[in-house]
Amino acid sequence: MKIVKKISEINQIVSDLKKKEKEINLVPTMGNIHEGHLSLLSEAEKFKGVNIVSIFVNPAQFNDVDDFNNYPNTFIEDVEILSKKKCDIIFAPNKNEIFLEDIKTKKTVFEYRNILCDLFRLGHFDGVTTIVKILLDLIRPSNVFFGEKDFQQLKIIEQLINQNNSKTFLIKCPSIRDSNGMSLSSRYSVFSQDQRIKFEQYAKIINSNLLILKKNFNKKAIDNIENELRNFGISKIDYIEVRNEKDLSLSKIHERSRLFIALYLDEIRVIDNFVLY
Ligand code: AMP
Repeated sequence: MKIVKKISEINQIVSDLKKKEKEINLVPTMGNIHEGHLSLLSEAEKFKGVNIVSIFVNPAQFNDVDDFNNYPNTFIEDVEILSKKKCDIIFAPNKNEIFLEDIKTKKTVFEYRNILCDLFRLGHFDGVTTIVKILLDLIRPSNVFFGEKDFQQLKIIEQLINQNNSKTFLIKCPSIRDSNGMSLSSRYSVFSQDQRIKFEQYAKIINSNLLILKKNFNKKAIDNIENELRNFGISKIDYIEVRNEKDLSLSKIHERSRLFIALYLDEIRVIDNFVLY
């Protein structure tokens, strides 16, 4: 497994691979590799070609400096984990390699906006699409792998790829969940013991109401989740909504719909979504 930090080096590697007509599979991550990320890499193994995992904590997608500074950085451990998997190259550029000047993001995707996380993390998705476009242009992968855990992001990336007429194929990967039913996330690696216990309680509240919601769709079950979480002392809930998977419009039925949740456990943002069909 090779670790590449320089853009000049990845350019050379990609151009050599293209000359040899090798396919490239790209798994973009922000590091702190866990089973969720590894499931994307396992999916990549089903395709022929060279597997590249990028690790870049993208400053442009954080709308809060503290959130960026507190994001877990476990590069040495990540290298160790990935070296045991079918990862051929880790591309881990530093900030100055990617953003030669000041970070400038551009709003290029207008679909799936002004709802869900876009309402609460201003500029976040512009930061995401800016870096993903840079990675796609550099690496020109045949396949790129993204998780359904970040469902709105997935839809926005799909749109980005479509509107760029990119030859890259987007592979959507299901969420890998903990035994408590919640999707794994790098953000949870910094939970204290106390926060871990609270999180288990939140998970129970969400799961029990999810069962009710799946059996019998009603607004009351959605309100119940919010009320029970608030009674439990949750500090901040950004949204709890059911939306259609196709266009992310609000939904009142199970079919093709998911429950979307974003809330805070102290200062740590928790987002997840749950299939209702
Ligand atoms: P991140 O490092 O959190 O930016 O995530 C990198 C990629 O891994 C994104 O496409 C995420 O949607 C995906 N991902 C993160 N957590 C999970 C999970 N629990 N299951 C599946 N995919 C995930």
